[in-house]
Amino acid sequence: MQRSNDKAGLGTRAVWSGELSSKERGERWAGATQVPVALSVSYGYETVEEWLEVAQGKKSGHIYGRNTNPTVAAFEEKVRELESAEAATSFASGMAAISNTLFTLLSPGDRVVSIKDTYGGTNKIFIEFLPRFQIDVALCDTTDHGAIEAEIAKGCKLLYLETPTNPTVRIVDIARLARAAHDRAALVVVDNTFATPINQRPLELGADLALHSATKFLGGHADALGGVVCGPKDLVGRIYHFREINGACLEAMSAYLLLRGMKTLHLRIRQQNESALRIAEFLASHPRVAKVFYPGLSTHENYEIARRQMSGFGGVLSFELRGGFSEVQAFLPRLRYANLAANLGAVETVAGPPATTSHVESTPEERAAAGIPEALIRYSVGIEDTEDLISDLRHALDGSN
Ligand SMILES: *Cc1c(COP(=O)(O)O)cnc(C)c1O
Repeated sequence: MQRSNDKAGLGTRAVWSGELSSKERGERWAGATQVPVALSVSYGYETVEEWLEVAQGKKSGHIYGRNTNPTVAAFEEKVRELESAEAATSFASGMAAISNTLFTLLSPGDRVVSIKDTYGGTNKIFIEFLPRFQIDVALCDTTDHGAIEAEIAKGCKLLYLETPTNPTVRIVDIARLARAAHDRAALVVVDNTFATPINQRPLELGADLALHSATKFLGGHADALGGVVCGPKDLVGRIYHFREINGACLEAMSAYLLLRGMKTLHLRIRQQNESALRIAEFLASHPRVAKVFYPGLSTHENYEIARRQMSGFGGVLSFELRGGFSEVQAFLPRLRYANLAANLGAVETVAGPPATTSHVESTPEERAAAGIPEALIRYSVGIEDTEDLISDLRHALDGSN
């Protein structure tokens, strides 16, 4: 097994956690310093006795790729140490992590409390799929902590939070709501995709499980889908068991790409935090911008909570242009340094309107009800030079082509 890096800083963990020990390299991989991509589906043994020991979990090893894989295990170990969790298990995508977690922990008759602003796919699970299994879901106004506590007090099995949210970057108080949920013996799950373990530590704030779309900031290069859940061994073990049976496993090549991407997580997040704050300040001062949504601005409605529970405010912001959707249509193609695409958390800046990204399935009325202006742009800051991004935005805002 690997040495524990629990005492090391997060940057050191991002680089070293999950990597092969020199003993493992020597025995299995001819000294390779990088985790190899194990594409083998099955793992062979010299004796039936040894095979049985591995199958029964008495000895570490792998049997079949739907259950475990060495490259995937290295990825899980890196995220586990970054989240300071007892255990971690991975999935084919962020949505697989979310749906496997919910379907493992919930049964007919249970009740879930969550917020209206969860990721679009998560919201679909809440409103379309869980009710089919007689699971009741209460979705509260995201920033109304009193209303969320009141719903929790009615009794629930699980509190599901996401913070910061998509696309208006709202903030919920994890510690406060986790206390309320634990008073009712409910489990607390936090989607930590936007913040990453560098900026926010849900387990230390009282959550039972922290999960991610690794597709976004963890991988950071928009070239691999993946998901991961971190928390105590018993809970993660139950979710792993459901996943190994339903088959939503992370594949080795994706695990390798995510693992490689994560080695620079701390550097990317540091740069994105810094750029996003400066860009938010620039946009807030621009006459063509009606409103900027970024938790690092003191004008943000939950700035105080964000300051308390985050060590950086993250790389995603959104802003509303003056005028309507036609302004967005004219503005976006003028950006030189941004992919106009439905993604975030990459090394390249990514920009798009909620109408084509997070809330593509909603009607304009539904978006208005969710407090999402039609002229909103979500801007996920990459690792480009901050000055270049600001002048790109200035040019696109001032331009008239
Ligand atoms: C993208 C995203 C997801 C879903 O992840 P996939 O990897 O696309 O399945 C879940 N939560 C948040 C906050 C996301 O941004």
